[in-house]
Amino acid sequence: MNYSDILEKGENILADAGIDDARGDARLLIEEASGIDYSHLMISMSDEVPAEVEEKYRGYISLRKKRIPLQQIVGYTEFMGLRFHVNENVLCPRQDTEVLVEEVLKDIEISRDAHDNIPGLADEGPLKVLDLCTGSGCIAISIARLSDASVTACDISEKALEVARQNAYDNQANVRFFQGNLYGALPQADKYDIIVSNPPYIRSDVIPTLMPEVKDHEPRIALDGSADGLKFYRKIIEKSPDYLNPDGRIYLEIGYDQGAEVINLIRSCGYEDFHIIKDYSGNDRVIAATL
Ligand code: GLN
Repeated sequence: MNYSDILEKGENILADAGIDDARGDARLLIEEASGIDYSHLMISMSDEVPAEVEEKYRGYISLRKKRIPLQQIVGYTEFMGLRFHVNENVLCPRQDTEVLVEEVLKDIEISRDAHDNIPGLADEGPLKVLDLCTGSGCIAISIARLSDASVTACDISEKALEVARQNAYDNQANVRFFQGNLYGALPQADKYDIIVSNPPYIRSDVIPTLMPEVKDHEPRIALDGSADGLKFYRKIIEKSPDYLNPDGRIYLEIGYDQGAEVINLIRSCGYEDFHIIKDYSGNDRVIAATL
């Protein structure tokens, strides 16, 4: 069989399985199986596919047919221009979460510039950032790589932390990792300048309505925010003042319809200056607030 035939076959199988972008996925999987990018494959469409490439590709297609996320099949995804290893123990990093990271990076830059412009101020060293519910580590690792902040991250799942540690190593990022339940994971008396989190925030009753890739193959503990979706916001926000330095900031990813509820929680815990930032599709995505 040649590349053209094999691609068409794969595309048809995926389309029958109800996959929206069957053609796009089939292309990506043939690129992955052959190690050749699509622009080069286009000029080799009538070439015979080597047996080992065909076998690999068929394996990928049969996994994708079962609605296993593309990122889990190939084993990685891109986030903030970096490559992250993913598996069934972590949430696949989402593009929308880049908005959260970018806001934190802006904050770090502004803080550094402000500090540099006040003569005589003692250098207190890099800003300290804490990432709660780190999962694959995508937020913590991007911040560590793209700024000079000192980054700590935690997660309750040891299996997620294995992935996060591997990602930190592969991306040569210096992040301290701790396993445990939110702040319970941290050394006593730790203080931070910025807390960031993309916690599980989907309402339990919404989970069965999600795409099979998400509801059947991504870890439920990374998705489920309890009956009202707000369990982790409550826990993170209520205790955050104990872990923040004066003027500390908090940055939280939120669901498109959770802005008002999370702002209420933030307000009741003594935060000022809160604002909501939208994602690339124009939905509310991030809440930023200063203590
Ligand atoms: N912090 C990770 C991410 O943004 C994991 C989030 C989660 O598991 N809810 O991808």
